[in-house]
This record gives sequence, structure tokens and C-alpha cells, in this order.
Amino acid sequence: MAICSASQSLMLYQTNQGSLDLSEWDPDKNGIMKLDGQWEFYWEKLYTPDSFIDKDQLTAPEYIHQPRAWNKLIVNGKELSGNGYGTYRFRLLNLEDRIYGIKIPRVFTSYRLWVNGDQLASAGKVETNRSEMIPQYLPQIAYFKPVDNQVEIVIQVANFRHRSGGILDSIRFGDFEQITDMRNRAIAFDLFLFGSLFIIGFYHIILYLFRIKDRTNLYFGIYALLISARTLLVGEIFLIYLIPHFSWEFAHKIQTIAYYIGVPLVVLFMKSTFPLDVSKRLSKIIVIIGAAFSALVLFTPARIFNLVNPLYQLFTFVVISYLLYIVIKIIIKKRENSLIIGLGLLVFIIFSINDIVFLSTWMADAEHTLLRKIITRGNLSSYGLLIFVFTQSIVLAKKFSKSFTTVEQLSNELKTINVSLEEKISERTKALELSRAGMYKAYQSAIESEQALVDFTQNISHDLRTPITAIKGYINGILDGIIKDEDQKKKYLLRTKDRIDQMTNMVQDLLDLSMLQTKQINFTFQRISIDKFINIISEKYSLDMASSNVTFILNQPFIRNMADQVESIVPLSDETISSLEISIDIEKLERVFANLFSNSIKYCAKQPEIMLDFELIDDFNNLVIKVTDNGIGIPPEDLPYIFDRSYKTSSNQMVDGNTSNGLGLAIVKEIIASHEGIIWVESKLGLGSCFYFTLPVHNIEKNKSR
Ligand code: ADP
Repeated sequence: MAICSASQSLMLYQTNQGSLDLSEWDPDKNGIMKLDGQWEFYWEKLYTPDSFIDKDQLTAPEYIHQPRAWNKLIVNGKELSGNGYGTYRFRLLNLEDRIYGIKIPRVFTSYRLWVNGDQLASAGKVETNRSEMIPQYLPQIAYFKPVDNQVEIVIQVANFRHRSGGILDSIRFGDFEQITDMRNRAIAFDLFLFGSLFIIGFYHIILYLFRIKDRTNLYFGIYALLISARTLLVGEIFLIYLIPHFSWEFAHKIQTIAYYIGVPLVVLFMKSTFPLDVSKRLSKIIVIIGAAFSALVLFTPARIFNLVNPLYQLFTFVVISYLLYIVIKIIIKKRENSLIIGLGLLVFIIFSINDIVFLSTWMADAEHTLLRKIITRGNLSSYGLLIFVFTQSIVLAKKFSKSFTTVEQLSNELKTINVSLEEKISERTKALELSRAGMYKAYQSAIESEQALVDFTQNISHDLRTPITAIKGYINGILDGIIKDEDQKKKYLLRTKDRIDQMTNMVQDLLDLSMLQTKQINFTFQRISIDKFINIISEKYSLDMASSNVTFILNQPFIRNMADQVESIVPLSDETISSLEISIDIEKLERVFANLFSNSIKYCAKQPEIMLDFELIDDFNNLVIKVTDNGIGIPPEDLPYIFDRSYKTSSNQMVDGNTSNGLGLAIVKEIIASHEGIIWVESKLGLGSCFYFTLPVHNIEKNKSR
């Protein structure tokens, strides 16, 4: 009794031995069915359809429950090995009159197939001995029409190369369109897998070549390439369509090696991704075992290396257990990307277990009807790898974007560092230039000061020598009896006193100047209104000037007014002037006036005339005091230097009985500076000079509102 199952509806059909009644079966409704069940099997007989015309000539058939290898089948009391040959026969009864198709899987390892007497498919060469038989895997489809509503399928199979012999996978049967669709879809899937894995593998190897440091990409790349190559050798075995005479032995080697190398490669991949979690020693051992088995595949024929395959499958289960342990470990330890890689690997492991079981001798040599319902395909690991590849691409994309972000951040930081460095450098350069300029200036002024000190010492010595020589002359004259007359003596003694006074003044001036310059003189500032200040000056000097026969003119304070681009001078009212205040040390300022006035008188060749003006400038912020005389004037070349210590103009000599020491204006300048003012001069030779100095004014807001 044969039990056949329809792949989609799981309907069960009761039939006679080696035949199946399909009167109830409708391909449009029930879809493709697997021709699983009891088949007639003639061991060591190569029958053709003709052989079955005269049944008396035939030996009695065995019944073999398909799909399975004929290994371990008991025929005539003997257990079969994989080697040998035989004929399968199966009949389908009560079929509709239409075109049907069957899908023949890979057969171990050569076959010829007839349907209703016509040979429709074959692979390799079926022979009764090892030397003549040629193995080949070639899944195919065949179309046919029932004759008298019946179909007879006869298949001769011979195997002397593989450990297993026979038809290990289900033959599928259905309407010819359904079978064509199934075949096309299967090829499309295989090619899609091949293309995807090939590109991914290639891409990872290129990635590795660009970054040799990271071996993860190398392992992953090689593995993907191996599995892509394997994809063309399992399932629809598309490679044989491309290269029909491709050696079965060689194809088998590639396919097996892809699996054998794959196991240690996955371990190496995990080791380079999670170096802290995968044992170095264990991975080394796994690599050695993998390499030893691969070498065996490489150097021995299929019938030999196939014998050790169960051993390697066992080893694979051990490795898988270890990998599962690693996956749990990395997830618990929360390693970077552990969840996604772990998940991908888990799917891949489950799919690989499917393939290992499907291809195991345990599955091949027995009926396992239930197990065959669960495990229906033998090339799921390629899909598993594709899913693993997908998770790996996510990790890779994450890694890339992370490194890009890091690079971006670093280059931004570098830019800022560069910018700030450049800024710092330019700042430092500027500072250096400034300090260099400052140093140069300081150096220049040191030279100038040194020169000034030399000049000053020379001038002082000169200035002191003159009165000292005079004093010496007078005293010698008296002591030597040259000056005898008492009146004359008195006259010379008075002259001596004058000279001594002159020297005392000079020494005092020097002392004052140096104390002013080193800020050792205390100023006592007081706020005083401008009108009061003018009164003090007027009271102090008007009488003196008159008695010295000097014309002294004191003008009313004023401001300049611009109206329609015409400047006019506007005198300020007494009320305004009284409301404006200056902060001064009156004693020191008197010295300024005394000095300026005395110079005006001293450097004047005619009847001296001094004029005093007060002008408010800068919107009442500053008071400019102007002292004008009708003196000899100052040569233009001397103007920049007259406020320097001990500077005397060339015209100075023109003045009779000059008692100048060149310190007066230097002292004046220091006093004005202490009042936060400035001093300058304008002069024309022969016409006179104008000395200007400023003083800051207070109560501006009050005055402005007037
Ligand atoms: P000194 O004691 O020589 O007058 P100052 O410092 O007061 O020293 O003046 C420096 C020089 O400026 C004088 O030697 C003089 O030549 C010139 N000077 C100053 N005031 C006047 C002025 N009102 N008219 C012409 N020359 C002047």
C-alpha cells in the first residue's frame, strides 16, 4: 500500500503497491503533489519500459518507501550499501487527459527516466559498474500526457561514487504549468541568492582590502562567496545548466568544502567581532579541525570524504552549541551590536541545522515521513546567511556612520583648534610685534634719555660753571685787593648773591621737575569756578604787570559758534562762567602762569604785551587758556622741543642777562599733565608766541541745559 501526500493539501491517497489512483485528485484545486510512498524497486536490474510488457521476464519487485537512499534496504536478506544500481517504477492511475509535469530532484548519482515508454530525462551515465558509470546531479522537469488515463514512470538509477544511492528527495507532480512555475521560481530564488551573496562577499573583501586591520570583513566576505558558490551547486544546481559537463566530483568537492570551511569561518568572524568573548584556543582548535576535514575533501574522492561527513556534522553541532553560548554571553554582557549580530547568527544557525539534518545519512537512509514534512528543503542555509548578511550590513552601516560622525567631529575640532591656533599665533605675533615695537621704542627712548641726560649734565655743568666762575672772579677780585672801593665791593657781593640765588633756583627747579616726573609731589586739588579762577589770576598779576611796565589784557571767556558755516566768537555770561568749575591745585597753576608770563617778558625785545584768553571747547568739557605775547617768537625747528628738560632755543642767546635754565616749560608741562590737560605752542619769529593749555571742566550737564 502506498501513501502519497499532496504537498499543499496534505491529502492522503490510498493506492495499490507501486501505483496511485488519482481519480479524486484535481491539480487545480490540490496543487502540486509529492510522489512519496511505496515504489516498485528492482535491485541490480536495469529495466526499460519495454521490460514491463512481458511481466513474466521480471523478477518480483521490492517496495521502497520514497524518498530515501537505498542504503540499509534489505534485499534478499542482504543490507544494501550506497553502491549499485536498480530500477524504480511507479504508476499513476485515473488521470484526466491533460498535460502534466514532474520535477525530478538531484538523483544519487545518475539516472534515466521514462514516462509512458518515452525517455524524457537523464543525468550522467547509468551503468552497472563503477568505471563506466558517470555521476551527475541535474534536477529537471519533464512534461507528458497520460495514455489511457495512466502514467507509467520508470527510472534507472546507478551510483558508485556517493555514500548514498537512489532518489533522496521527493519527485513532484502536477499540471505542467504549475511545475514550470515551481521550477522558474526555484531558479529565480537560487540566482537571487547567488547574486546577493556574491556581491556582499565581494564587497566585504574589498572593504577588507581597504582596511586590512579589521579581519571581520575578510571572514565574512570569504564566507559569503563560498555560500554563493554553493548556492549554484545545491537546489536547482544551476551551474550544470551553465556548464553541462562540469565534473560531479569537483562540484561535490566545492559544495562540501564551502560547508567545511564555513564552520571555522563563522567562529573566526565572531572572534574578530567579539575578541573578548570567543576563546582563542577553542577557535584555533576549530580552525585546525575545519582545515583537516577540508584537506580531506580536497585530496580524496567523494566516496571517501563522504564517509567522514557524519563526523563533521557532529563537529558542527558542537561548534553551533559553542556559538549559541557565545551569543548568549555577548547579549548578557551587552556588547556593542550583540543583539543584532546574535539574532542574525541564531537564524543562520537554525537554517544551517535544517540543511545538516536534511543532508544527513540518518535522514537519507530511512523513511522519516514526519521529519520529511518538517524539513522539506536542503538549501535553507543560504537564506539564513542572507538574513545574517542583512544584520551584518546594519552593523556595518552603523559602524560607518559612527566613524563618519567621529571623523566629522574630529575634523571640526581640528578646524576649531586650527582656527584658535591661527588666532593665537596671530595674536601672539601681534603681541610680539607690539612688544618688539615697544622694546624698540623703549630702546630709542633709553638712548634718547641717555642722550638727554648727557645733554642735561653738560647744560647744568655749563650753567653752573658760568655763575661759579663769576662768583670766583668777584671773590678773587675782593680777596686780591683789586676791588678796594667799599661801594664796589658791595656791588660785587650783591652780584655774587644773585648768582647764588640763580643757582639755588636752578637746583630747586631740577628737584621740582624730577619730583613731578616721578609723581612724588602731592597735588591739592580744589574745585573752583572759572570766574573765581580768573579773578585770582587777575588780582595776582595785574598790579605786578603794571608795575613792570607790561601791558596785560585779560579777555572775557568765550565759545566758538558755527552758524551757516560761519564761525563766530560768543562771549560767555558771568552767570555761565560762575557755574563752570575746574578742579585745580591753585598754587601749582600759579607757577604755570608765573613761568609763562616771565618767559613772555624775558623773551621780548620791546615793550611787553601779554594777553590772556579763556575758551570753552568740546561742548563745555574743556577750558583752553591761551597766553599770547608780542615777544621774539620761537624758531619753528625748536617748537617740538621747548617742553623738553633743559632745552633752550638758539634765539635764547639774543636776550640780555638771560637767567634761563631750560627747566621752566618742562615743569609747566608736568603740572598741566597732572591736571589731565595738555599744553602746546604756536609761534612766529619776531611776532610773538601763543601758549595754550587745557583744563577739564565740570558740571557740564548743568551748563549745557542753560
Ligand atoms: P628757560 O628757563 O630757558 O626760559 P623754559 O623751559 O621756560 O626755560 O623755556 C625754554 C626755551 O623756550 C627758552 O630757552 C626759550 O628759548 C623758549 N621760550 C620759552 N618761552 C618763550 C617765549 N614766550 N617767547 C620766546 N621764546 C620762548
